[in-house]
Amino acid sequence: MLTRMSSLFLRTLREDPADAEVPSHKLLVRAGYVRRVAPGVYSWLPLGLKVLRRVEAVVREEMDAMGGQEILFPALLPREPYEVSNRWTEYGPAVFRLKDRKGGDYLLGPTHEELFTLAVKGEYSSYKDFPVVLYQVQTKYRDEERPRAGILRGREFVMKDSYSFDLTDEGLSESYRRHRDAYIRIFDRLALDYVIVAATSGAMGGSASEEFLAECETGEDTFVRGPGGYAANVEAVTTPAPPPVPLDGLPAAQVHHTPDTPTIETLVDFLNAHGTRTFTAADTLKNVMVKIKPPGATEWELLGVGVPGDREVDMKRLEASCEPAQVALLEESDFARNPFLTKGYIGPGSLAANGVRFLVDPRIVTGTAWVTGADKVDHHVVDLVCGRDFTPDGTIEAAEVRAGDPSPDGQGVLEAARGIEIGHIFQLGRKYADAFGLDALGPDSKPIRITMGSYGVGVSRLVAVIAEQSHDESGLIWPRSVSPYDVHVVVAGKSAELLAGGEEVAAELEAAGLSVLLDDRKASPGVKFADAELVGIPTILVVGRGLAEGKLELKDRATGERIEIPRDGVAAHVSGIVRA
Ligand code: ATP
Ligand code: MG
Repeated sequence: MLTRMSSLFLRTLREDPADAEVPSHKLLVRAGYVRRVAPGVYSWLPLGLKVLRRVEAVVREEMDAMGGQEILFPALLPREPYEVSNRWTEYGPAVFRLKDRKGGDYLLGPTHEELFTLAVKGEYSSYKDFPVVLYQVQTKYRDEERPRAGILRGREFVMKDSYSFDLTDEGLSESYRRHRDAYIRIFDRLALDYVIVAATSGAMGGSASEEFLAECETGEDTFVRGPGGYAANVEAVTTPAPPPVPLDGLPAAQVHHTPDTPTIETLVDFLNAHGTRTFTAADTLKNVMVKIKPPGATEWELLGVGVPGDREVDMKRLEASCEPAQVALLEESDFARNPFLTKGYIGPGSLAANGVRFLVDPRIVTGTAWVTGADKVDHHVVDLVCGRDFTPDGTIEAAEVRAGDPSPDGQGVLEAARGIEIGHIFQLGRKYADAFGLDALGPDSKPIRITMGSYGVGVSRLVAVIAEQSHDESGLIWPRSVSPYDVHVVVAGKSAELLAGGEEVAAELEAAGLSVLLDDRKASPGVKFADAELVGIPTILVVGRGLAEGKLELKDRATGERIEIPRDGVAAHVSGIVRA
């Protein structure tokens, strides 16, 4: 069906919307693709909906091709399944909750592991039924703390979520690998520039998980990569440990009076002003006190985290390392309850003496000597040697990661970059199968606990991500795979002849199987060209003065290149370009 701009439900805007910061948000609003209804809640207008549907189609084709079966769950869900998985509580304020007229609790689904697990439990029972992959393309609801950047982070958004159900760990690995391959095909077809990064640290036994990040300066995720191909989300970076140092001949630890030195900076200045050696912040051991609460526990437990003093504790990395336990910084009342903690001067000694678990950065290995708190106000200990004077309970990934740090694969140093998460693949294991008792009856009639994977693609976010990566000063530039139309025919003039000529050209293109947007409006050519650039269809065909001599102008939106082509055979010519 030919679309005429004279009747298309579209009004482009000359000004950027006041609340927009990133290019995709500005352009999608200005070009009339989306309109804001509430913070993080958007309507899709005709052009936007076409792009969204095309992204969905790519995702569906690849999910079907990898053997996924599409189903659709409601977004309005009862509380009970989320109570079983404990996510009614765990999700906290991020869930939209509501009550029905009888007072029953409901939620708008933020993600659907529970429903998929229950569905499989309801339909399948024999080992012969497995493996199976189910997916849906569905609207999700999350009351995000900071909805931002238009449809990039919405409170209502479209996600493709799929789940694999396998009898064995090997089966799960295979389902994971097939999803990974399907995602690579999806994002390649969408012409995205993306990286696959490791997403959880194995330190606390997390299973395989990777994120697909679209590279983008405006992205919220920081990742690092090394020259040898290593790439990881900052949360998942593992710190290479240096070799241990022999203890023989290391100087003995000495406690010093270091008045008014509660911070690393004041301490280093004091030591350098009063000693014979030069110290830097990296020579100090900073002991940060936190408390953790494993799921199901009622009490918080103290935890000491030791990091080299030139680095901060990165709370996101610490949280990822402690998962599924919750982590929080200590409050004044915690210090009051544990008087052995001498704020600003905490050392490994008092932690060990009081049975507080003490985990250290992997760089703190046997034989390394540190300046650290002496558990007494205004006192520090110098040359406190790990493995001689104190013995940590283990290591933890909590220190900040910096560009220039050695790459964990031993090749070169890390550089940092930013990205937007477009997909996430995750080996869930048996968490939900355990919660809901999802078993298959084995050949020996014994139950086999099912193991699951969960895999998400941010379908509506992708529309914005593509726009973010593919635009210029004048507007959007869609890749052909998702463009709302194949060709934008611009009638550059108001005469009846030109308009008739444009209609004929458009009809020929349509007959050749191309989708066409025809600008038949009575506007000036300047306005039409500006709108064509803004709307971003990759091929623009201008029907102008040259028509009288049998000539048209073909413009490539991405390169700006213009060529003259003969009117005769236009459909074959343009098809050749669009389908190249
Ligand atoms: P993020 O870290 O960006 O908040 P997430 O880890 O919460 O994402 P998942 O639960 O893994 O996301 O969801 C799968 C995919 O859904 C993500 O990879 C992302 O592309 C998309 N997505 C998540 N939250 C939003 C949102 N608020 N708006 C749009 N898309 C989203
Ligand atoms: Mg994620």
